[in-house]
Amino acid sequence: MRIGSLFILLFSGLLAFGQHKQVCFSFDDLPVVSYGITDTVFQEKLVNNLVKSLNNNKIQAIGFVNESNLYDNEGVNQFQVKLLKIWVNSGLDLGNHTFSHPDYNTVSFKDYSEDILKGETISRKILNDRGKSIKYFRHPFLHVGNSKVKADSLSDFLLKKGYHVAPVLQKCLFMIIIL
Ligand SMILES: [Zn+2]
Repeated sequence: MRIGSLFILLFSGLLAFGQHKQVCFSFDDLPVVSYGITDTVFQEKLVNNLVKSLNNNKIQAIGFVNESNLYDNEGVNQFQVKLLKIWVNSGLDLGNHTFSHPDYNTVSFKDYSEDILKGETISRKILNDRGKSIKYFRHPFLHVGNSKVKADSLSDFLLKKGYHVAPVLQKCLFMIIIL
């Protein structure tokens, strides 16, 4: 069971230039968190309204993707891919949130790092098609490793892969409900 899917995580620093710091919103567990509602019309409307609202308010945002959500029994679900494209086509960014949302406290570095690599394939292509690259990573459950060895191994791995870990400064308890 996933937790904390739709809460909005604020972070700053990534977009800090000189004296100015900007706050960037981020959303986890993309392509969409619809609490079990599988109706595609509803899902698309939810994503469109969210994106429109962010753009109207000139809010930069990164959506962290679990690519396992892009698959169904028949393979890649193009509708779910389209939801990510709506996000990127509107100028927002995507980040890697692993493929299957594992808890690093309970899996090995090997399994976790493989899950990270598996989790970037479709997002990378969508971003590349828009002239962007995948740069951001967020740990599921914000677990960075429950031993120094594991934490260091992962941190080195992410650095080598060119990922910036999106720091979380504050968990907001509000949700944007746009229906
Ligand atoms: Zn998550």
